[in-house]
Amino acid sequence: MDDDPGSLMVAKAVVEHAGYECLSAADGDTAWELFQLHQPEVVVTDWVMPGMNGLELCESIRRVAEDSYTYLVLLTSFGSQDDVLAGMEAGADDYVTKPLDPFTLRTRLLVARRVTALHAQLGKYRQELTRQARTDPLTHLDNRLKLTEDLDLLHGRSQRYGGRYSLALCDVDYFKSFNDLQGHPAGDDALKLVAKTLAALARDTDGVYRFGGEEFLLILPDQGAADAEVAVERIRSGIESLGIVHVGNPREVLTISAGISTFTADHPVSSGRLLKEADDALYSAKAAGRNRVVSFVRAG
Ligand code: GH3
Ligand code: MG
Ligand code: MG
Repeated sequence: MDDDPGSLMVAKAVVEHAGYECLSAADGDTAWELFQLHQPEVVVTDWVMPGMNGLELCESIRRVAEDSYTYLVLLTSFGSQDDVLAGMEAGADDYVTKPLDPFTLRTRLLVARRVTALHAQLGKYRQELTRQARTDPLTHLDNRLKLTEDLDLLHGRSQRYGGRYSLALCDVDYFKSFNDLQGHPAGDDALKLVAKTLAALARDTDGVYRFGGEEFLLILPDQGAADAEVAVERIRSGIESLGIVHVGNPREVLTISAGISTFTADHPVSSGRLLKEADDALYSAKAAGRNRVVSFVRAG
């Protein structure tokens, strides 16, 4: 970007000769628009321009936090060291003095390529780590960290707009004895199959999480207690129908118990409290003989 056509032409020629695509603008406002439209990897900008100046452009570009990085080269008049300092402080990565020397710009483009490639790689690692940190390695379900984030969002939304949702805490019955009788690796395989089945039987809009150990949590958005009970009962029955042999279970197959709690405008408890209610209901399901779904009942 440069309001001096000669300088702009030299810059464009260098960039294109180096094998890159080049978009050019003769004023700051157009440059800013082009930036937002195309997110270029490198911006070479004059300092003094009509409209937004080079400094403001650097600041604006740095304000938008993207996964990709834009390498900023400032064109300044010879000897204006204060301008250079201000520009670098505003986010410029390098500067070139005018009149623009093609060789100098060429070398800056090499550095720019190295830096943007590094940022792209870091962005990929960051994304992958973010995903891994929220995934349970055994079952590949979302883990408790992801659950906390999703639940906070849904809870906030339900509170604000008077919505409702249900939680179902599911726990494998007699799982300690499954491990004891069939070995820990078989226990792992059983957990994987249970996880896969829960995910398959839940609706697309439901969340399925490994809560810990042999416990799984379902988030059922927009579902009241009665709907949730039907859905979770279908899932419980689906797990039983897998017919995973479990001689330590009186039914001789692996089963789960589930406790349901529901957030409504009439029962606007915290998400932590709602989890506790699902856990209480699960405890009741266990006490009543396991392999069943129980909804939390408010005292009084
Ligand atoms: P209940 O019917 O009351 O739920 O009894 P339970 O035996 O299922 O419950 P308990 O909490 O006593 O035991 C849970 C067992 O789950 C103990 C633990 O070794 C096992 N477990 C937890 N995580 C894993 C895992 O990742 N892999 C395997 N194989 N076992 C696990
Ligand atoms: Mg348990
Ligand atoms: Mg258990």
